[in-house]
Amino acid sequence: AIPVIAIDGPTASGKGTVAQLVATELGFHYLDSGALYRLTALSALYRGIAIDDEQAVANSVETLKCGFKDGDIFLDRENVTMSIRAEEVGNTASKIAALPAVRKALVDLQLRFREAPGLIADGRDMGTVIFPDAKLKVFLTASAEARAERRYKQLIDKGFSANIEDLLKDLNERDARDANRAIAPLKPAEDAYLLDTSNLTVQQAVDQVLTWYAAVKA
Ligand code: C5P
Repeated sequence: AIPVIAIDGPTASGKGTVAQLVATELGFHYLDSGALYRLTALSALYRGIAIDDEQAVANSVETLKCGFKDGDIFLDRENVTMSIRAEEVGNTASKIAALPAVRKALVDLQLRFREAPGLIADGRDMGTVIFPDAKLKVFLTASAEARAERRYKQLIDKGFSANIEDLLKDLNERDARDANRAIAPLKPAEDAYLLDTSNLTVQQAVDQVLTWYAAVKA
């Protein structure tokens, strides 16, 4: 089977950055599954679909026209790389992610990213639900403070305005929703390696994942 490395963890744990660097290092494909939830959310907002209308949101996935190219993300040909990162979109994404029909509608789209020579899949349920046969499963964590700090820097770098207190509150709300939902709750797979990145540099986290992968691959 085509090898998959699943990297799961809470909001702003550094998954995205670590996963992309590991993908580049190994020459693997990269799936940002959170982006699919964000695209679904943005498209529902654009189309005026009520975000608590489970069936309508799930149905909208069928006609979702999204594209990924050279790190850029498109919705109906519009470059939405920046706009899907807005906190409002992230929050809406976390609400629709709690709807079983929406999660189900996104499964095939995610499986299609599994292409040779391999895939790094980043999300909340990559190791538990979508790729249970992943060769390596990593669960990244970091303290809420470290994560709020990172998210703050990310948003400022992208030209958004942000406030640490609000972000911390947002993160905690989103984590609670992700961890307590009935379907695919955020939790480490039984066979996941835990990695707390609070006091690690990005490179140290990347090196740890590569070391683990080299060991399981052998
Ligand atoms: O990772 P990111 O913050 O972009 O994800 C946005 C939201 O999508 C998360 O808060 C989470 O609720 C949801 N999500 C999910 N399952 C995934 C990826 C993201 O439920 N595999």
